[in-house]
Amino acid sequence: MDGNLFTSHLLDWYDANGRDLPWRREPNPYRVWISEIMAQQTQLDRVVGYFDRWMARYPDLQSLALAREEDVLKLWEGLGYYSRARNILKSASVLAHAHGCVFPSDPIAIRALPGVGAYTAGAVASIAFGLCEPAVDANVLRVFARLLDLDAPVAETGVRQTVERTVRALIPEDRPGDFNQALMELGALVCAKRPRCGECPVRAHCLAHARGVADSRPVLPPSRKAIRIEMATGVLVRHGRVLIQKRRPGDVWPGLWEFPGGCVEPGETPRQALAREFREEVELVVEPVEKITVVAYSYTRYRVTMHCYRCRLTGDAEPVPVFNEAAEGGFVLPAQLAEYAFPAGHRRLIEFMERDARAAGWFDAGRHD
Ligand code: SF4
Repeated sequence: MDGNLFTSHLLDWYDANGRDLPWRREPNPYRVWISEIMAQQTQLDRVVGYFDRWMARYPDLQSLALAREEDVLKLWEGLGYYSRARNILKSASVLAHAHGCVFPSDPIAIRALPGVGAYTAGAVASIAFGLCEPAVDANVLRVFARLLDLDAPVAETGVRQTVERTVRALIPEDRPGDFNQALMELGALVCAKRPRCGECPVRAHCLAHARGVADSRPVLPPSRKAIRIEMATGVLVRHGRVLIQKRRPGDVWPGLWEFPGGCVEPGETPRQALAREFREEVELVVEPVEKITVVAYSYTRYRVTMHCYRCRLTGDAEPVPVFNEAAEGGFVLPAQLAEYAFPAGHRRLIEFMERDARAAGWFDAGRHD
């Protein structure tokens, strides 16, 4: 591969086709860092709205260092992979205390921040500080698996090292950040899962294209089977308020809020599972009286079917929930649900209830069931 020619073909294409994204207009280290963390596992087009709202609320490291986790999780709601938001907060604390709220330019110091791996450190170092550091994400791995016609899965360490070495050797000193972004943009827009070789600015440098194997690169790893889970979730309303609880540290989605419920065990119906979960989780005896909806959602390898019921108390007239499996909880007004961060499945249940004509009756403050 002629490196100079490759670089000039790629950058010419990027100059004409790169998307106008808010962090590209003002690429200071803080903005680049937040955008890169948000973009992990998330398409850039989706990131833009979250990024703009974030910058309106926390425009710099100083404001972020004072942020409450509760507010940050709420701002992050819907982006998924909430550990990213928690790591941003941990990093903000490190940056405030160890670096005086000045983002370090040393790639090793950037890499030492919680939640920052080789890719993010390379992206911040090259885009915000103009350093010749590679930033190899899934898009760049895919592009080079084809350019170099690599016949091993990109998840293999050796493949990543080969790609990082190749990118490092190609990075032009005058535009390292643009070069890295151009590679990622090429992977997102042209050399996507289905490569559009006819539109590709670096086609002349591509071995997989020359050999007619672009569609079979990168080599796929053996597929991991999806795991299906049945869940039951209950909406319990008392005096116009609904019961929610906050997940504990160490749980999946720590710090997020939810309606009580849990997994349907073998041999149980969703209604039985829900009655059991209410007894175990909050020491309340309830009867699921009405199916609200079924919400299907996925996270990592899990495919969840969540059966949602309105529940009625069958025990004490004015019982007090005991939160055995939550950090805290309580009854809140339906309008207040918007102030709490929920995982995607529970947020979809809330959105369903907002559209459901039956729900107004459930939340009637005079009702006692
Ligand atoms: S020619 Fe095709 S396979 Fe090769 S880099 Fe371009 S889009 Fe990807």
